[in-house]
Amino acid sequence: RIVYVNGEYVPEEEAKISVFDRGFLMGDGVYEVSSILDGKLVDNDAHLARLERSLNELNMGWPCTKEELVDIQREVIRRNDVEEGAVYWQITRGAADRDFVFPKDAKPSLVMFTQARKIVDVPAAKTGMSVITVQDIRWHRRDIKTVQLLAPSLAKMEAKAAGADDAWLVEDGYVTEGSSNNAFIITQDGTIVTRKLSNDILHGITRRAVLKIAEQEGLKVEERSFTPDEAYDAAEAFITSASAFVMPVVKIDNRILGNGVPGPIASKLRELYIEMAKAEAK
Ligand code: PMP
Repeated sequence: RIVYVNGEYVPEEEAKISVFDRGFLMGDGVYEVSSILDGKLVDNDAHLARLERSLNELNMGWPCTKEELVDIQREVIRRNDVEEGAVYWQITRGAADRDFVFPKDAKPSLVMFTQARKIVDVPAAKTGMSVITVQDIRWHRRDIKTVQLLAPSLAKMEAKAAGADDAWLVEDGYVTEGSSNNAFIITQDGTIVTRKLSNDILHGITRRAVLKIAEQEGLKVEERSFTPDEAYDAAEAFITSASAFVMPVVKIDNRILGNGVPGPIASKLRELYIEMAKAEAK
């Protein structure tokens, strides 16, 4: 694989980053993942806008212009010949002697790589996935997409150990979101429920697109918190992310939803999202 690191395209074994990079030492960095369909980027402008917000919130500068960044995205996709998958890019504050105070003159580091994989035609879309609920132990600025991913990584490990596919995180009795996705339930009367935007969750790009589709379809949407108990009684559930698009959830803490197969609304939303993503990718 060819990766991009601070101005160079190199084979991944040759890529180098300083030991003093604050991303490495302190988790002082932000990232984005855009999906690739037909070799094109899905909803990339929205990912760029969120990256800009993350950078601003942390007082971090751009390593290059937005236009240059998009050129680099396209170039890593081209060099790796990726038709379907994702491009990951991260900006860290850069290398400086270790100190909690932000360095004045550090140059931000930009790293980018692709992951070729299927997103549309995956078995989980037909079988649905299982989740368990675990305590949300993350920091309180989950709206900033930082590279500090140890807490969600631990949550996912706990889910795997329990035989589930993923974890839904719970704080003060309410589900915040999934370990790396936004969480949705569909009530018995067909209302789509997902937590409202705040610092408690990442403002998912896919979440926004799916809510828009749901409204266009005339489905009822409520942006509010829900408890695990309400989720157990839901007719359907699903998650959204750039890596999974819309993925039906059929089991929560060993309670099977409906018939234990993906429900009609979640499946329809997945289909409509993929249709829209393919049509608008560029
Ligand atoms: N929440 C969290 C915690 C995430 O890590 C992600 C994926 N990056 C999402 C939600 C989904 O966001 P998006 O749809 O923009 O990928």
